[in-house]
Amino acid sequence: MMQEKKYTPLSEISGGNATTAKLRIAIQKSGRLYDDSVKLLNECGIELRNVKDRLKTESDTFPMEVFFLRDDDIPQYVEDGVADIGIVGENVLFEKNKQATIVEKLGFGKCRLSIAIPKADVYSGIKSLDGKRIATSYPFLVQQFLNTNNIQGEVHEISGSVEIAPGIGLADVVVDLVSSGSTLFMNGLKEVETILQSQSVLIKNNKLNKEQELLLDKLLFRIKAVKKAKRNKYILMNAPNDRLKEIIALLPGMKSPTVLPLAESGWSSVHSVLNEDEFWEKIEQLKAAGAEGILVVPIEKMVM
Ligand code: ATP
Ligand code: ZN
Repeated sequence: MMQEKKYTPLSEISGGNATTAKLRIAIQKSGRLYDDSVKLLNECGIELRNVKDRLKTESDTFPMEVFFLRDDDIPQYVEDGVADIGIVGENVLFEKNKQATIVEKLGFGKCRLSIAIPKADVYSGIKSLDGKRIATSYPFLVQQFLNTNNIQGEVHEISGSVEIAPGIGLADVVVDLVSSGSTLFMNGLKEVETILQSQSVLIKNNKLNKEQELLLDKLLFRIKAVKKAKRNKYILMNAPNDRLKEIIALLPGMKSPTVLPLAESGWSSVHSVLNEDEFWEKIEQLKAAGAEGILVVPIEKMVM
């Protein structure tokens, strides 16, 4: 029932030795991380040549080769140096326990690895897992958790549809990835404990050469600009001149807000950048201070 998908042989994927410096990145071939991974590369100005049904492709706009793999294989490829960098969930990275360094958290693919038990069961703390049969696709992380908490449990590794295991009598408890919790709920389970919070990360091989490190710096610079832009909004508003001081004092901006006179005398247009954390609060304060016609615009890139 739970068959393992095949590990793509290295010979099919590595294109021999590169003569000019380029970065080889491993991303998920299809699945939850695929769209966000490709989108991130695109937002960094890295366009990929026709990606459909291929094992690898290149970019014409950045010295990069892209390998499409199962996410489970990505840590190994990066450890081996077949790929220089990769995008993978922390859940997979830590489960595979490979030698690779996290260079940046990417903010997508957020989920948690949680323990769930049948809804009707009573949960009285971690100790109640003692002696239980635990079904999971994350045997390494689960065993680590059990050891840390000094619990004896039988770990059964299954590679898919873990949430049906209790229903068919295969296990008492499951440890699986959760985002909304609806899959657990539909299978008559309830989440009782979180083992790991996870998101996608950019990882690198530990022995990149100098040229590759420079390319990675260039990529990271772009990723940071994209991430920063997502956390910020560009805001424009009309402000009565007699309250300009008060309004400007509310705005952080990159240096100071831009203030331009409007055609209508006595009014100015004020432009600035707001962080999402303080966004709604600031908007309310600005309105209270007399700002009108407030426009909020997404920012594509932000370079400091
Ligand atoms: P592959 O064929 O590449 O092995 P997969 O079936 O293992 O794919 P997906 O379901 O596409 O993997 O999930 C990929 C990653 O997406 C997970 O390892 C995890 O990091 C992240 N993710 C985010 N939310 C969830 C979720 N609710 N359930 C499962 N994975 C999630
Ligand atoms: Zn997988």
